[in-house]
Amino acid sequence: MPSNSYDVVVIGAGTGGYVAAIRAAQLGKTVAVVEKQKALGGTCLIWGCIPTKALLEHAHALKVVQSAKEWGIVIPDATPAINMTQVHARKDKIITGITKGVEFLFRKNKITWIKGTAQLAGGGRVHVVDGEKQTLDAKEIVVATGSAPRSVPGIEIDHTRIITSDEAIHLPEVPKSLVIMGSGAVGVEFASIFRRFGSDVTIIELLPRLVPVEDEAVSAELEKSFRKQGITCLTGTRVTKATAGSKGVELEAQSGDRKTQKLAADVLLVATGRGPVTAGLNAESVGIAMDRGYIKVDALYRTSIPHISAVGDVITLGQDAHPQLAHVSSMEGILVAERLAGQEVRPLNYQHVPGCTYCDPEIGSVGLTEAEARRCGYDVRIGSFPFGVLGRAKMAGETEGFVKIVADRKYDEVLGVHMIGPRSTELVAEAVLALRLECTVEELIKTIHAHPTFSEAVGEAAHATHGAAIHA
Ligand SMILES: Cc1cc2nc3c(=O)[nH]c(=O)nc-3n(C[C@H](O)[C@H](O)[C@H](O)COP(=O)(O)OP(=O)(O)OC[C@H]3O[C@@H](n4cnc5c(N)ncnc54)[C@H](O)[C@@H]3O)c2cc1C
Repeated sequence: MPSNSYDVVVIGAGTGGYVAAIRAAQLGKTVAVVEKQKALGGTCLIWGCIPTKALLEHAHALKVVQSAKEWGIVIPDATPAINMTQVHARKDKIITGITKGVEFLFRKNKITWIKGTAQLAGGGRVHVVDGEKQTLDAKEIVVATGSAPRSVPGIEIDHTRIITSDEAIHLPEVPKSLVIMGSGAVGVEFASIFRRFGSDVTIIELLPRLVPVEDEAVSAELEKSFRKQGITCLTGTRVTKATAGSKGVELEAQSGDRKTQKLAADVLLVATGRGPVTAGLNAESVGIAMDRGYIKVDALYRTSIPHISAVGDVITLGQDAHPQLAHVSSMEGILVAERLAGQEVRPLNYQHVPGCTYCDPEIGSVGLTEAEARRCGYDVRIGSFPFGVLGRAKMAGETEGFVKIVADRKYDEVLGVHMIGPRSTELVAEAVLALRLECTVEELIKTIHAHPTFSEAVGEAAHATHGAAIHA
């Protein structure tokens, strides 16, 4: 085999691409990955999950220090504050450690990293058009080129005053005032970070509630907590104009009753979603069916062209919106690699994808919301348990929120679990397994939850679903 021929060529080393490459190599394939960034790991490691969660951990540390008195910790004559230079240094060290870790895994699994931009050339060939220029021959190609921030019509990103998450993770100073457009996961996470760091934060959401994909009770609880923390929440409001000047941004926003209000901020963060990265890839020219820039795939991630698969943020499955999440792209990467190695694989169940939002308080959810379950025609049974009652939550000083279970009365099946409060992004794992195993509420009740833990809230919510919470 010539040195530039591989069983599998993967384009893009984000969580979709690098995980697909590792699994394919583990299964005996020769693998090359073309990645144009200076580091491996894509959006998740370099621009997304890791930097934002690192910043949120800083915000949490500051929160604990700010309430030092309550904890009996004496900090002589100091008002705790954040030093952004040190914050970024710590965050960047974490990112470098993890991206280097992926490089190590590539070496361990004998995966070749070709540094450059890939272009599909047809007939199983991939041109690397810059960097380490060459033409690769592949038996199978996996496209995992991911996504990039996008704005909305009329709002021009200038990357200084009107920014996206790519700039927000690097802001050298804490802005005095910050307006955030969009209250999805990215918007509310940055709201939590910068409010804690000291900014005046306003969050503007077009739909009537924050985190609109979550259960309505979760949205209401988050808005209550955000207001308490001093975050201004303008829901049902559209940003109609934003003009960047040397000192800040002038905005106009229109609420549902068509009233226009003017706002001003140091920085406007546009967090209104991400679009696919396919420009320059040549996907359409080689005949791949596309939909609004996304690559169309079937349930096993085959594109319309044989021997070309695609996974991650760049794909559409044609029905509901495909979740743009790291853990989704990596599961898709594993599945594709196993299919290419001849293993029997089954489509993923997107109803079982956990949604984790690491704002303060955290949100973890899986399955049907109460409204969705009712729309599906289930005879719905609800049980809810507040974290505030738990000893463990009191000890941690984290007493906001609840766990809510949505179940089917007829068969007692757990249809969805929605939580907001401490450690929710960890606790949701039990709920994901419950849905995967088609668990009943009774089985959750009979599962022994250790004491004193936050997970007791899940057990108690199950009891509550049967009308008999012990501690509430
Ligand atoms: C601020 C933020 C926070 C987030 N937080 C979370 C979170 O907490 N949890 C979670 O699950 N998800 C989170 N996400 C989403 C998550 O990062 C993405 O869903 C995930 O990274 C998608 O992986 P991917 O492999 O499909 O694409 P990407 O990670 O975007 O990787 C694509 C890679 O392809 C490369 N590439 C593109 N075109 C070419 C080409 N032609 N040639 C060579 N290389 C190319 C790019 O350089 C990139 O490295 C977050 C996203 C953002 C923006």
